[in-house]
Amino acid sequence: MQAPKLIYYLLLGSNMNDPAGQLKLALQHIAALPELQVLKISSLQRTKPYGKTDQDDFFNQVLKLQSPLAPEDMLSTLLNIEKQMGRQRGQKWGPRIIDLDILLIQDMMIETEKLIVPHYDLHNRLFVLELLTEIAPDAMHPKLNKTISELRQELMSSAGGNT
Ligand code: ADP
Ligand code: MG
Repeated sequence: MQAPKLIYYLLLGSNMNDPAGQLKLALQHIAALPELQVLKISSLQRTKPYGKTDQDDFFNQVLKLQSPLAPEDMLSTLLNIEKQMGRQRGQKWGPRIIDLDILLIQDMMIETEKLIVPHYDLHNRLFVLELLTEIAPDAMHPKLNKTISELRQELMSSAGGNT
């Protein structure tokens, strides 16, 4: 029996060695895997560094994928692409050649040691909500019970948002 396909939203980020080029390369890695089908791609956004400010600006992009992979297998697949692209585990929020995070998987709520979905901080990051709004304004955040565009509106009207 074929595994049912799941809809995934991913966040791509980079701030090293030609970040826009790294995002393009990551997209090529993703598109090359037969078990991942890219359905939508947001624009690229240049973002001030988050958490740790003495580093270069980030480039970010959001993707919508369809895949039969289970969430934990998707995570390993993404970590493997990060590794192939030369990601080294350094400081929390430090510079990275590529970061591939899972933002949403349909209405799933997962909280294991390895994987938290929806992404734990997606509702606090304006750049994430802006990019997600481009391709999934009506997607629901299953934990907060609000749509992506509602969360974006909310964050914009609160103390300037947290970019
Ligand atoms: P961050 O993305 O927070 O800067 P890392 O990319 O170094 O940090 O990821 C560290 C770990 O975060 C991964 O090994 C993974 O197990 C875990 N993780 C938890 N939830 C998620 C998620 N939704 N997407 C990607 N990784 C996640
Ligand atoms: Mg990550």
